Amino acid sequence: GPQQAHLKVRNLSAGYGAFLVLRNLHFEVKPGLTVILGPNGAGKTTLLKALMGLIPRQGIVLLDGDDLPEKTHEIVKAGVTLVAEGRQLFPQMTVLENLELGGWLCDKHERARRIEQVLADFPKLRERAHQLAGTMSGGEQQMVAVARAMMSAPRLLMLDEPSLGLAPKMVDELLAIARRIADNGTTVLMVEQNVKKALAVADRGYVLERGALVASGPARLLERSSVVREAYLGAD
Ligand code: ATP
Repeated sequence: GPQQAHLKVRNLSAGYGAFLVLRNLHFEVKPGLTVILGPNGAGKTTLLKALMGLIPRQGIVLLDGDDLPEKTHEIVKAGVTLVAEGRQLFPQMTVLENLELGGWLCDKHERARRIEQVLADFPKLRERAHQLAGTMSGGEQQMVAVARAMMSAPRLLMLDEPSLGLAPKMVDELLAIARRIADNGTTVLMVEQNVKKALAVADRGYVLERGALVASGPARLLERSSVVREAYLGAD
């Protein structure tokens, strides 16, 4: 198959106006599933927004060796998609209509082909294709949001807290979906607060605190590292 997406970031800084949240971050997103952990307000969402061109950034971001564009629509064309926190579905539209919107970049035939593919990958959504998105459970809506993102056939999929507010069973299901997407060849970068479960499905991880990366490594090793154990797994 085609080469899997690989993101390299050097000296990334970003924030809001004069307020710098991220300072000179260096990190890499290799093929597979990478998770970014960290407390509330650490800058995790800001990091994804900066990569997606939703806020200005400084530094070097290379996607497979090429500069990542700065404008969001060009970033999408380059193969990067973000599922933002809060999902941002159109509640008065059906599941199918929401999926169609995710394929806005392609022609009618390609869109139909991708819808078929996405419904094959998310069989639960096929049963719900004509349900209004706003009437679905939180977990189902999150699934639609991920499926809609897959409609752009991303090479790098970014997920901002996919398990936020979901019941434990749905958390497991969403994290399993992220894992499966990575196994199928789309590189995944995921922000998660569910530290233990996220590390159980991820290949690698980073810990972000106050805008700086304070730990990184293979998920299995991170789980055992003192910084993660003391700050995030103390109660387990
Ligand atoms: P959470 O899990 O709570 O979303 P986070 O790690 O994603 O946390 P961010 O949302 O990236 O954190 O926020 C990082 C910092 O940037 C916080 O201090 C926050 O108040 C600030 N911030 C976020 N959005 C804005 C904004 N639109 N304007 C100004 N400051 C912002």
